[in-house]
Amino acid sequence: MSKTYDTGNVFAKILEGTIPSQTVDEDETTYAFDDIQPRARVHTLVIPKGAYVDLSDFAARASDEELAGWVRALARVAQKQGVAQSGYRVIVNCGPDGNQEVPHLHGHVLGGQPLGAMIRSS
Ligand code: AMP
Repeated sequence: MSKTYDTGNVFAKILEGTIPSQTVDEDETTYAFDDIQPRARVHTLVIPKGAYVDLSDFAARASDEELAGWVRALARVAQKQGVAQSGYRVIVNCGPDGNQEVPHLHGHVLGGQPLGAMIRSS
């Protein structure tokens, strides 16, 4: 069953241009901009321009062009932000347990410093 997309979410408004953003990269199917609350020296969000709630929704409904475009945009942003050689991390939070706050698929590209362990053990 497909998830209902909230057209009023903050990233939809960024795509519409009604909320400002700091552009890092853009092509036909993707848009990348700096996170407003950076958790690392480099913290850029990469989103599809299409209306997809999360990774599962994107995998189920997106075209091959959109799927490939988003993956390539993540790697291109790492290159543009100067972290491709030193290393970086891509995080995609999904749903309640993933602590996803904004219901429009986004990949966090983090880097520019040692990022430590992937996840806190508990
Ligand atoms: P997530 O918890 O994976 O849904 O991450 C949502 C991210 O969106 C957080 O890191 C926020 O800091 C970021 N964010 C929320 N509003 C904005 C905005 N207007 N511009 C840029 N980043 C934002």
